[in-house]
Amino acid sequence: MSTSNMIEASSRIKELEYYPQLNDRTCHLPITSIVKETCFRLAELFPKRAASYVGQLQGGHVCCSIVLKQINNGKARVDCMVAVCHLCNDLWFRVMEFDRLDQGIARGVYRVHLRNKTCNCGIFDALHFPYVHAIVGCMNYCLDPMSFVNEVYKLENLYNVWRHVLPLVPDECK
Ligand SMILES: [Zn+2]
Repeated sequence: MSTSNMIEASSRIKELEYYPQLNDRTCHLPITSIVKETCFRLAELFPKRAASYVGQLQGGHVCCSIVLKQINNGKARVDCMVAVCHLCNDLWFRVMEFDRLDQGIARGVYRVHLRNKTCNCGIFDALHFPYVHAIVGCMNYCLDPMSFVNEVYKLENLYNVWRHVLPLVPDECK
């Protein structure tokens, strides 16, 4: 779906708000095609995604593979980082990131609060799973980063979202 189609559809919807008598032509509007195409593609996508999550669950996985990959990528970067405990009981610490540890000049300093699942780089808060700075903290405390992954990434929850079958959209033009 191109941006120009969306703009055209959006302006057509606004036009209909002001000129409701045009509604009898709704079935010929571009927005109808867009909605139908979106529904059609989603109806195809839902069973594929559901099947993918079933496969991962049957493989003994708990969390979605994309998150696992990101966490493993983060683990591979921890060699260039040093965590300093700020409030250990509260799982709050600073992480210094270096280009090379032997250079001694930090490229960035980040505050990670594992209990609140935040980091001031903003990525942990946005993704809702530990990114590299939080992973450094987890390793420092001997904690499993997976225990800080949000429930939405659990395969069972993902499957419960995608297992639904989308109903067919009736063609009112016929
Ligand atoms: Zn961070």
